[in-house]
Amino acid sequence: MSKKLETPTNRPPSIDQIARAISDLDLPHPLLVDAAREAVNNFNGGDVVEEARKIGEVISRTLLTDVINATGVLLHTNMGRAPIKIGDKNKHFRFSNLEFDLETGERGSRQDRSSKLIARACGAESALIVNNCASAVLLVIAALAEGRGVAVSRSELVEIGGGFRIPEILQQSGAHLVEVGTTNRTRRKDFEKAINKKDVSLVLKVHQSNYRIVGFTETTDISEMADLGIPLVVDIGSGLIDSACPWLENGPPKWLIGEPAARQSLESGAEIVTFSGDKLFGGPQAGIIAGKTELVELCAQHPLARAVRPGSLTMSALQDITISYLERKGSSIPFWEMSTTSVDELKGRADKINAKFTTETNATPGGGTLPGVEIPSAGLKLAGDHVEFFRQQNPPIICRMDNNQTVIDLMTVHPSDDAFIDAAIKKIH
Ligand SMILES: *Cc1c(COP(=O)(O)O)cnc(C)c1O
Repeated sequence: MSKKLETPTNRPPSIDQIARAISDLDLPHPLLVDAAREAVNNFNGGDVVEEARKIGEVISRTLLTDVINATGVLLHTNMGRAPIKIGDKNKHFRFSNLEFDLETGERGSRQDRSSKLIARACGAESALIVNNCASAVLLVIAALAEGRGVAVSRSELVEIGGGFRIPEILQQSGAHLVEVGTTNRTRRKDFEKAINKKDVSLVLKVHQSNYRIVGFTETTDISEMADLGIPLVVDIGSGLIDSACPWLENGPPKWLIGEPAARQSLESGAEIVTFSGDKLFGGPQAGIIAGKTELVELCAQHPLARAVRPGSLTMSALQDITISYLERKGSSIPFWEMSTTSVDELKGRADKINAKFTTETNATPGGGTLPGVEIPSAGLKLAGDHVEFFRQQNPPIICRMDNNQTVIDLMTVHPSDDAFIDAAIKKIH
């Protein structure tokens, strides 16, 4: 039951008051605010809190959830086709409402939920979720530039790893590459010239995720490229969604400096950004296309979209992570939980295992992101090569060698697994 809010006039209470009055709904705060705002927009003198509650409940019922399929249809397309059991082997199978609208009882879209939540989290008008960032780039180019030119700086004609090469992806998308500038310097003027001369329908900026060009260099910022008259697509890759990191109590960590973020790229004028779900976003393998509704729609309607659509496991994991972002709970996103653990805390854990071996270490972001960046960390260091011994434990412990010493970095180890490391070390010492 909602309590009546006192208001001095017959105007509705503030958005914030309404959002707080319906906070018992199991929704992240920004979505409560959305419900409150919609209720105020619909305000016609009735009980605005009750109205907001109804809207909030509808939003709640659009989220991906387990459902009981009593239709007798064994492979129900709206409910994710084959049901699965995940994790706990004793858990019974469940279907999901992957393409089922619980409000209307009709077929829904798998893109309705997580995509909207992700768009909300990175300040985009719309978003579309696909299999990985490589397919995101492929789809965006196919949908927006098939048969036409795509202008890319010569400094960004990159291979990201695993055969993801921008010139080849462009070719596969049916677009052709228009090279702009030089390897070390590309200016706005170079883009203007290319666009005037050729049939260019898109400018693509690719983040130099896994390499750096240093020395006599000049790149063109997003803001300088924003008004070239054709859409600007920025492949940021890493999936940092907001450089202010509002989900972290202490704001962005030092090592993150300079990493492009979805929200700021869109604010600076990118029409579309693409990024991975399983890099700094901290979620499952996925690719996210976020930006202007009109362009995201073109991607969604392209035939390739069907070929690169994700399944219910991906959607459900993405939904959980995105809700954590919206609730500003970085501590429930494993990547951010690990990467923001203090060196003191890690040293304390190492001391508890065996203080004789405690050492400071440098962790790295990895995953083809932030090349050369080190994150201060701590762990244990043992003389000699014990890498194989640790690998043969159950569960296997994977560590690295440094100068004929075996290094166990605790930043990437969950505290409840310290006991396994402790037990393994006791077998040697
Ligand atoms: C990692 C990366 C990709 C590829 O992402 P996947 O999700 O692995 O397909 C594409 N572009 C950039 C800039 C990247 O950093």
